[in-house]
Amino acid sequence: MKTSNDYRKRLAAMRPNIYMGGKPVGRDHPAFQPGINTLALTFDLVDSPEYSEVLTAKSHLTGEKINRFTHIHQSADDLLKKQELTRCLCLKSGRCIQRCMGIDAMNALSVVTREMDDALGTEYHRRFLDYLRFFQESDLVGNAAQTDVKGDRSLRPHQQADPDLYLRVVEKRPEGIVVRGAKAHNSIAAYADELLVIPTRALTPEEEEWAVAFAIPADAPGIKLISVPHTHRQRKVIKAPVEEYGTMHAFTVFDDVFVPWERVFMCGEAKFAGRLAALFATYHRHSYTGCKPAMSDIFTGATALVAEYNGIGKASHVRDKLADLVAVGELVYAAGIAAGVKGSRSSSGTYIPDVIYTNVGRYHAEVNIYHEYETLADIAGGLAATLPMEEDFYNPETRPYLEKYIMRKADVPAEYQHRCYRLIENLICSSTGAAAQISGIHGGGSPVMEKIAIMGRYDLEARKRVAKYLAGIPGGEDGENGGLS
Ligand SMILES: Cc1cc2nc3c(=O)[nH]c(=O)nc-3n(C[C@H](O)[C@H](O)[C@H](O)COP(=O)(O)OP(=O)(O)OC[C@H]3O[C@@H](n4cnc5c(N)ncnc54)[C@H](O)[C@@H]3O)c2cc1C
Repeated sequence: MKTSNDYRKRLAAMRPNIYMGGKPVGRDHPAFQPGINTLALTFDLVDSPEYSEVLTAKSHLTGEKINRFTHIHQSADDLLKKQELTRCLCLKSGRCIQRCMGIDAMNALSVVTREMDDALGTEYHRRFLDYLRFFQESDLVGNAAQTDVKGDRSLRPHQQADPDLYLRVVEKRPEGIVVRGAKAHNSIAAYADELLVIPTRALTPEEEEWAVAFAIPADAPGIKLISVPHTHRQRKVIKAPVEEYGTMHAFTVFDDVFVPWERVFMCGEAKFAGRLAALFATYHRHSYTGCKPAMSDIFTGATALVAEYNGIGKASHVRDKLADLVAVGELVYAAGIAAGVKGSRSSSGTYIPDVIYTNVGRYHAEVNIYHEYETLADIAGGLAATLPMEEDFYNPETRPYLEKYIMRKADVPAEYQHRCYRLIENLICSSTGAAAQISGIHGGGSPVMEKIAIMGRYDLEARKRVAKYLAGIPGGEDGENGGLS
């Protein structure tokens, strides 16, 4: 396994292809460091006694010990460990741990490349396994570049005014393919080793040119990462772990990018594009059943802490709201556990979480996210939005006033009151907090996609048969015979 130092060295050696704030910037730009620090945790903690068991796995290819963020799930236990790992590490960084998306894409590819080979006699799975070996041995960080920019949402890829609004193959050569297009909202692309590109939706037979999946170094010629940072107000004195970690997103342009065949895992198999898109979403939404409970933990903790500091910790409405927060986080986590336990093995041997439990878990996280923000804002009061700047707490002229008037419970020092509100400002009144709300809604797919996934699998007919059975209507069956699971 590699170290965070190896990872940082790899980034330093990459070709500069990032644009931010109107100019090219290197991967050493300070704005990227909180994101890089977050990823570094996934390397640094592999040997720690608390994290080692969940953060490492045995490669099914080589038998070697590997980082779990490069592992292909072989059992329900692997899915449960990934979920637990995601929750633990998000608590450490205070936000998205970000390395899940790459391995979610790798797991989806491991299933679908094999299914294509079985159905069509292609050689994608062999290529994928060769790439996986490299990915595991190098302990790589992958970004999942799925979401196309999509143009007019009412039109299919082949109907768009500009065909490049969905990434597509523009040329096939003996040595590989050339792709053109752009992927939106690419988290971590600026500090990922590799981009794992997969289709965004199901495609029709006339849409073969858009049916493409591949892996490419994030600094390959023709790739331009137009990045946006989300930052907290810089702290100077009251340093805290919450500001050491962060996320970044990129608009990723593929300006006629060459991809060698060995790295191409789908090229023209339109029938399998929807399967790959949906399967990535399933794995990624299952990861959300780990990270979202961590965010609920953080919101619950911050709400309880500020209530205690304000002297209302035992008020019944506060306890009631805290119970709501706990119920959301733990229900989402429970759905993820159920999805792992009820998962199934694909023809490739890769374990897939149960689609219905995964999606109901992700759905519950999403419909409650604004309620979580609302609860913390409600209990914290207005100071979360109007907290004076840190410098004013340390300016000799204003310091005495702020230290005197920020006081709530007399036994909690002014600095702790300040720190508590600074954390809440970071969580709910910062560009990071705002972006997290939107990713809480759209990350892993818009809300309707979860309902489509649920209803696509849910056996409604079996439920109707139960209703008929209970009503005494012919054709009814009780739950057991009706095949409920
Ligand atoms: C912070 C953040 C990080 C992300 N990270 C990544 C990443 O790393 N990699 C990645 O690939 N993606 C990433 N995503 C993308 C995420 O998966 C998408 O935002 C999501 O799939 C929605 O796509 P969109 O943003 O284009 O919105 P749209 O697809 O435009 O959706 C907006 C609304 O329009 C509706 N809609 C869309 N099409 C239709 C239609 N044809 N008919 C009717 N209604 C329609 C949707 O249901 C939704 O309600 C990230 C998103 C966020 C916010």
